[in-house]
Amino acid sequence: MTPDPTVFVATSDLAGQMRGRSVPAGSRDAVLRRGVGWVPADLAITAFGAIADNVFGSTGDLRLMPDPTTQVEIPAREGDPGVTLVLADQTLPDGTPWACCPRTFARRALEDLQEATGLEVVASFEHEFMMADLAPTGPFSFERHRSVEPFGSELVALLEGAGLQPENWLPEFGTDQFEITLEPAPGLVAADRAVLVKELVRDLARRHGRRVTFAPLQHPDGSGNGVHVHLSLRDATGAPVLHDPALPAGLSSLGQRFAAGILAHAPALLAITAPSPASYLRLTPHRWSAGGIFLAERNREALLRICPTSTVGGGDPAAQYNLEFRPSDATANPWLTLGVLVRAGLAGITGEYDAPTIWPESVTEQELAGVPTLPSGLAEALDHLVADRVVAGWFDPDLIDTHCAVKRAELAAVSGIDDVALCSAMADVY
Ligand code: GLU
Ligand code: MG
Repeated sequence: MTPDPTVFVATSDLAGQMRGRSVPAGSRDAVLRRGVGWVPADLAITAFGAIADNVFGSTGDLRLMPDPTTQVEIPAREGDPGVTLVLADQTLPDGTPWACCPRTFARRALEDLQEATGLEVVASFEHEFMMADLAPTGPFSFERHRSVEPFGSELVALLEGAGLQPENWLPEFGTDQFEITLEPAPGLVAADRAVLVKELVRDLARRHGRRVTFAPLQHPDGSGNGVHVHLSLRDATGAPVLHDPALPAGLSSLGQRFAAGILAHAPALLAITAPSPASYLRLTPHRWSAGGIFLAERNREALLRICPTSTVGGGDPAAQYNLEFRPSDATANPWLTLGVLVRAGLAGITGEYDAPTIWPESVTEQELAGVPTLPSGLAEALDHLVADRVVAGWFDPDLIDTHCAVKRAELAAVSGIDDVALCSAMADVY
């Protein structure tokens, strides 16, 4: 007999790991109303499970307050019990928001954008991952697609059933690599789905006796696993505002300002969006991850890519038009990633930034030789984060200090090991 399901109340931490607590299904209503207990120092847990130095220590208490709109049901399967997974905000015991809650960080960024500009974000996070122990198959091949059945079809059905709106399920280029993309959705919904989709993939793989990894690289010479973040903006009527066919590359002047903020703060943003010691092995040229800090039309080496649109079948270019932020990966917290991108874009809209160069699709590597480079490693990105007073100012001081402490503890944990060992250490965790 399959045991009764439970309700798992979850958050995503600074290592991009889902953590939380479960209660019996019969307590669902009470838990939705009152939440479950949580501990401030949990924010300081590193990817490897240690607790980094933190200001919270052994005292203090929080609530994980579930947001019922995020509930997904994972049905029972072959004796393996079902579970309800629900995402939560971290609050103080009286229910007021906790200043260090990553989900609250995203929500407030979206609210501030809305208040200052009237604009709403539509976003989508694309996840690449690798599955262990498969027979060799070719990039993008039907053979690879079929080689993991019925996992693939079950994954699409699971995501559809959970309301995550899967868009593409594809065999990717790299060895044993796949990609799952979801339909664009309102900003916070998209970030919630990014938190959920990784765990739904991982859990289904477990049920099939398989292991997947979303680590930025499984091997230094292999393909990277990115989490590309697609962003567009809508006005109060729902009309898309990034597109202006009369301007270069069709990027509206508002879109140019939004992009300028992201480009200007990119070195600091990376400490949030690519926050693991292995992230920077992926962020090197010729990997189609991001080879430098630039904005370009339809170029997969760009930090910000202006994505293609199509008029086939009556497609509306303005509705499809979006910017893709490429130097992010699954070691990042999706709420913080969305939050910093929105805040950087908002800074660009409201502040004084130079208009960005929009490199055309035909740009050559020689022409790009002078564009600013990405931080060479996590330590450098963290230095940028702390030094960029605009970016650092978006965070509660305890949140940014804990983030830096967690990341420096992760760097210390892998110091002295070579890149092969580093990639495999991260692949074990992610
Ligand atoms: N795997 C590449 C990355 O690390 C992306 C390839 C693609 O454009 O889908 O970001
Ligand atoms: Mg891809």
